[in-house]
Amino acid sequence: MKLTLQALWNEGTERLTLSGIGEAELDAKYLLFEAFHTDMVHFLMHRNDEVKDEDSVKRAVADYRAMIEKRSERVPIQHITGSREFMGLEFSVNEHVLIPRQDTETLVEQVLKDYKGRNPVVLDLCTGSGCIGVSLSILGGFSDVTLADISLEALQVAEKNARELMQARWNPVRVTAERSEEKPWRLELSAGLADGTEKKAGVQKITLAESDLFSAFAGGRERRFDVIVSNPPYIPSSVIEELEPEVRDHEPRLALDGRSDGLYFYRLLAAECGRYLNPGGTVYFEIGYDQGQAVSGLLQEDGFRGVCVYQDAPGLDRVVRGTMVL
Ligand code: GLN
Repeated sequence: MKLTLQALWNEGTERLTLSGIGEAELDAKYLLFEAFHTDMVHFLMHRNDEVKDEDSVKRAVADYRAMIEKRSERVPIQHITGSREFMGLEFSVNEHVLIPRQDTETLVEQVLKDYKGRNPVVLDLCTGSGCIGVSLSILGGFSDVTLADISLEALQVAEKNARELMQARWNPVRVTAERSEEKPWRLELSAGLADGTEKKAGVQKITLAESDLFSAFAGGRERRFDVIVSNPPYIPSSVIEELEPEVRDHEPRLALDGRSDGLYFYRLLAAECGRYLNPGGTVYFEIGYDQGQAVSGLLQEDGFRGVCVYQDAPGLDRVVRGTMVL
């Protein structure tokens, strides 16, 4: 039987269907395009041609079959391809970070809307891949954004994303990095004009900081921000076992587990954010669909005003905002 792209697609679809993958056909097509570095137009024109008997094509077939095999073990497709699109930007991901969700775009869009034309100093706590903070830097043009996480492995992913997206956005600017080797780990990336004028207005800076919540900004290293954003772990521990295998077995527990009632990190954030905010500073937290009331209550108890809940595209509660007036 002749081997065609269509036959490969069918073969992959069958394999994934047998493994109980809901969108088997779509996933197989996506992996086929990835292995053959091709797209829909090429596929539609050549799907019934026999694939060429060349080394590069044989390698693509083998890559495709290996990717299908991995996907059939419920490895998330983004871990196989190594990236995920978020806010129209391409973010690298691996098993050390949560895969950026479309729901989280609600948070980024709200901050961009509230701060349009302004330049707030931003902290993204529990940054993971960096998708929230890096999007705000790139799309909002906010010139001083800090990405903090307890996980050094996650910060390495965030650093790669910050570097690559800054480079792509401010080309032909230069990305300079100042690294501190002391503990806790810290890295400053700044994009400025190639003639060394980055000290002038217009410089874009992203700082990465190893931090257990606010630990890197306390004890003599105090800093204040205008906006603190966070998508902390918020799934109640007991619910984690019920999640899809892709999430439960392949995404980092550290980024998901919000302890017994899922609210552990919000309690800490509500109590501590005020100390790190400038007067009038605002927090934006991503929340689970059923946590709007509880997290709003926590913020109000800790002195936040103008507390409100925003919905994501499917209409579920997804973001809570609150402002520290004093
Ligand atoms: N929204 C993610 C999920 O449902 C969880 C994100 C988080 O805990 N911060 O898998």
